[in-house]
Amino acid sequence: MEDLIRVENLRKEFPVQKSFLDQLFAGKEKGFVHAVDDVTFGIKKGEVLGLAGESGSGKSTTGRLLIRLLDPTSGNIYFDGENLADKSPKEMQTFRSKMQVVFQDPNSSLSPRMRVGDAIGHPLKIHTDLGVEERKRKVMELMERVGLSPAEFLYYKYPHQLSGGQSQRVVLARALVTNPEFVVADEPIAMADVSVRAMILELMKELKEEFDLTYLFVTHDLSTAKYICDRIAIMYLGRIVEIGNTRELFDHPHHPYTKALLAAVPVPDPTQRRTEEIPRGEIPSAIDPPAGCHFHPRCRYATEACSKGRPPMREVSPGHFSACILD
Ligand code: SF4
Repeated sequence: MEDLIRVENLRKEFPVQKSFLDQLFAGKEKGFVHAVDDVTFGIKKGEVLGLAGESGSGKSTTGRLLIRLLDPTSGNIYFDGENLADKSPKEMQTFRSKMQVVFQDPNSSLSPRMRVGDAIGHPLKIHTDLGVEERKRKVMELMERVGLSPAEFLYYKYPHQLSGGQSQRVVLARALVTNPEFVVADEPIAMADVSVRAMILELMKELKEEFDLTYLFVTHDLSTAKYICDRIAIMYLGRIVEIGNTRELFDHPHHPYTKALLAAVPVPDPTQRRTEEIPRGEIPSAIDPPAGCHFHPRCRYATEACSKGRPPMREVSPGHFSACILD
């Protein structure tokens, strides 16, 4: 099957002012945060690709680049064969309704002054020429579908009058109201109460089938990714270090960083946790990332070669790729 979304050699650098001492010794006023560092991957139509890693790994920035909420520094972003990377804001209008995003915090992505019905219907006002009554009918239908029931009651509520689970359903409905093909879900349940997380995930799965959606599911939580994703890509300091089928990645992780993330997943029996896999130290700064394999200062298997060059991505089993020199 063809990729619906494909990114090639994607990079995003954010300029930052260097400290006085750095300016003095390095002689440069500005540095760059290498948020996304030469990333290449594809997402097939109907697939859920998880993008997992610690905070600061570049996963949310990658999600925003895919739908051009951010402009890439370089690289290509293909949506259904069209390169979005060099489209102007005006040209991007054509694609906006086909690509939507669900952010982590529903409260900060909903206007406190906009009623629920108006918030969900707002994209229809921008992207379609449907009349007021038709928009309202479509919004009410969708509200019932995502569990915002009774819709005629909740339609006139303000965000502060909703529960956390209801707010997240509003955000989902707003993302789906224009019948998009691709949705970036950026930590969509991270702010939800434990009791509603499973319900929102289940709803997202059902909506995917019903609306024929393709998801990029950004998360720091591998147990959530396991539940919903067909494949998972692991990011570390702006690079994808491993990508493969979810089952394969859980059963046969290859990259030491993936093993570390898996070892950190809570298990019912803490004595079974493989604490020796958990890496030492914190994730380094993306302004001056370590040379070679970015993971080498924290990797228990690192050799001299690891700090010399970037390890190439290679296929370690069918459809399973890892950027590590280990056999
Ligand atoms: Fe560790 Fe070297 Fe593999 Fe990087 S390339 S993960 S440093 S063994």
